[in-house]
Amino acid sequence: MDLTKLSASLYDCQRCQLSASRTQVVFGTGNPHASIMFVGEAPGFYEDRQGEPFVGAAGKLLTELLQSIGLERSDIYIANVIKCRPPNNRDPLPDEIDTCKPFLLQQIALIQPKLVCTLGNFATQTLLERKVGITKVRGQVIQLENFVVFPLLHPAAALHQGNLRVPLKEDFQKLKTVLEQMSKPPNIPNTSSPPTLSTSKVPSQETPADPPTQMNLF
Ligand code: URA
Repeated sequence: MDLTKLSASLYDCQRCQLSASRTQVVFGTGNPHASIMFVGEAPGFYEDRQGEPFVGAAGKLLTELLQSIGLERSDIYIANVIKCRPPNNRDPLPDEIDTCKPFLLQQIALIQPKLVCTLGNFATQTLLERKVGITKVRGQVIQLENFVVFPLLHPAAALHQGNLRVPLKEDFQKLKTVLEQMSKPPNIPNTSSPPTLSTSKVPSQETPADPPTQMNLF
């Protein structure tokens, strides 16, 4: 299986009720060999029409934020948890997430990014498998079994709530630092220099995130 075949297999997906109202499945776009992947929530009006994630206002802001840290959209891969637009942009329902999640995980497994940046609550909670609020975990480097998650505020949230613009920009600046750390050569064991990148374990549902532990990730 490769990304093209996976995408083709979902072209006429009828697994959930969203197939009745969508224009088309919005699979994902970008560099299939990217080391950074971004995951949003679900396609909106323009994404549903164009068949590409993040082409509306939130997408324009995402492009600007990426450029602010020296990244182009062609450097990364972008997908959503849900591949079809929920009517009137309502929140995805639990059964829709459960139905679509395996395809997101397949995308991640095929692309094998070093870092998966989750945008907002739905993407973060889906990949962490915890009902943890984005404001608690944003900006943390979280090691999962097969990849690392870096949660950020969702650009659409900052479009609706102006006071989130600065924190969102801060999340991207933190991402820049994380990427710089990742691109450094790995620490050689038994040297005096300490590891540099701090990671957190997956935060539990009720408790705040554990304090970051010093670990060498990459
Ligand atoms: N918001 C998302 O989460 N995904 C998109 O593709 C567009 C807006």
